[in-house]
Amino acid sequence: MGSRRFKADTRQILNLVTHSLYSDREIFLRELISNASDALDKVRFVGLQRDDLLSIEGDPTISISFDADAKTITIEDNGIGLTEDEAAEHLGTIAHSGTGAFAEALKEKGENPDALIGQFGVGFYASFMVADEVTVESLSALPDAKPVCWTSDGGDKYTVKTGSRTVRGTSVTLKLRENATDFADADKLRGLVRQHSDFVPYPVKIEDEQVNRARAIWSASPSDVTEEEYTELYKHVSMDWNEPLTRIHIRAEGTLQFNAVLFIPKNRPFQLDRLDFKLGVQLYQKGVKVLDHAEAIVPRFLRFVSGVIDAPDLDLNVSRELLQQTPMVAAIRKQITKKLLKHLAAEAKKEDHITYDLFWGEFGHILKEGIAEDAGNSKKLLTELLRFETTESEGAQISLAEIKEGMEEGQEDMWYFTSVDKDRIQAAPVLEGFKKREWEVVLMTDPVDEWVAMSISEFDGVNLKSVLTGDLPEDEANDDEDTKKAKDEARPLITWMAELLDGEVAEVRMSSRLTESPSVLVDKAGGMGSNMERILKAANQEVGPGAQRVLEINPDHALVQTLAKLNNDGATGLEPFARLLLDHACIAEGKLDDPKGFASRLQSLMEKAAESMGAS
Ligand code: ADP
Repeated sequence: MGSRRFKADTRQILNLVTHSLYSDREIFLRELISNASDALDKVRFVGLQRDDLLSIEGDPTISISFDADAKTITIEDNGIGLTEDEAAEHLGTIAHSGTGAFAEALKEKGENPDALIGQFGVGFYASFMVADEVTVESLSALPDAKPVCWTSDGGDKYTVKTGSRTVRGTSVTLKLRENATDFADADKLRGLVRQHSDFVPYPVKIEDEQVNRARAIWSASPSDVTEEEYTELYKHVSMDWNEPLTRIHIRAEGTLQFNAVLFIPKNRPFQLDRLDFKLGVQLYQKGVKVLDHAEAIVPRFLRFVSGVIDAPDLDLNVSRELLQQTPMVAAIRKQITKKLLKHLAAEAKKEDHITYDLFWGEFGHILKEGIAEDAGNSKKLLTELLRFETTESEGAQISLAEIKEGMEEGQEDMWYFTSVDKDRIQAAPVLEGFKKREWEVVLMTDPVDEWVAMSISEFDGVNLKSVLTGDLPEDEANDDEDTKKAKDEARPLITWMAELLDGEVAEVRMSSRLTESPSVLVDKAGGMGSNMERILKAANQEVGPGAQRVLEINPDHALVQTLAKLNNDGATGLEPFARLLLDHACIAEGKLDDPKGFASRLQSLMEKAAESMGAS
């Protein structure tokens, strides 16, 4: 009893807190409400084990009162209370809260204390940010406890003496600092409660009126929660005006306990594609909010998800940042990811799958990041959720399973075409051979698809191959006499062109990809693809000199056949024609590197053509 000195590290923290210019000092209220809520939780728990506790007056409640003239605020609860020893022990040392780690961090880094206060909740001591004197009056619920009064000005010492409280519970009275008197205001306090403590599971009352919602619907059984309640929670956490597209309510009760209500919005939240986009998943511990944006608890490829996760066993003994790296958070993340993906898969399996289609339209490209990054265990689930347009789907987006089902007899591989050139993709010459064979090609037009394609080399036993690099099986056996002859005739032309264009293309070869066009450019296997190069360039990334392309020549094309014949007859002056075959392939891709050269080649050939038509 009497006056005692705070322990050294507590003094250090108090000193810091009282002199801090921390801008979010309003969090003191959340911390005190959270302590009161804990005290109510504890008495409920202890009451389960023994029946000699001091009985409660009224219902479990947290009341906030204020006196603007006296410049005080009081936070009162009818929870477990504190004995004398407990008051000295718990309020005099920092052993019990995240403040231990806080002191550590301070010692280690000596960094900006304001930033540290933001990261750590400093619990009870946060009251000294706004108060120059704090008085705790408490009566423990334990039998024969005596009332205790703890007081301190946040300096080196605190005092513990006999208190005057006659009913179970605790009141914490703050004598506000001159620069914090505005907190003694009903509207201000109401606003803070709604903002930070809305879902604390006990009523928080101001002037006898309940201010918070007090119902942690995520802890309730889904059958006890109304549609309106879900929607309200969604609007509260997501700041969205609309109703959510879909939601899941998880109640995990095994070794890993947590409750969660998670929502997927109808529309892409503004700024979702920005790197600094903050995820709207709030982390609670037993109805008390711990983090507003628990980024680590949901993978980035699900960053459009918002909601609440409440984990009772969360370790709050670490900084809020470290908290996100704890094994428990990682375990919750894993489960949540799986549940969300399964939920989406169930939507996708529905007869009409409207919800899934809407979802995919808004968020598909983000979900794909999961495949492109390392989705680990989720990769299989994610792969099944992928949807793509194909050369035959007429604009519809279909699954890889459906594409596999549509494979033709004799078609061993699934073919895809990555090109961000959405408008021209269907007309690309490189697809001609596939159309002739009636092989459906997956059209991958999102930039992220380039990475998706790299990480899925196989689907359900079928290899995925790029139309730009993969070798189409030569069906020479099926070549008719004409084609065989055409190929033989074209060979010397191709050899000659390879010499001519050496240094400009990596290779010139016979094509089995073409039916209509005389020539096409494809990618060299193993190198950086042309589409990737284009994407990186568009993102202003350094890509180096760029890989050389392969020029393929169609031996069945009339122009090629004429040139081959001329070449075989020893004709000269074929160079502009050969170059135009390359120009042609470039133009078909919408990209001509040498427009000036092309124009002059075309001009000279047009002149020749006009002459041969008999003009003089
Ligand atoms: P934390 O809540 O993180 O443990 P605090 O500094 O906020 O740290 O509180 C220290 C301790 O003081 C609590 O763990 C609790 O034992 C006790 N305490 C604080 N407020 C109350 C209260 N309203 N009723 C009962 N005990 C309390």
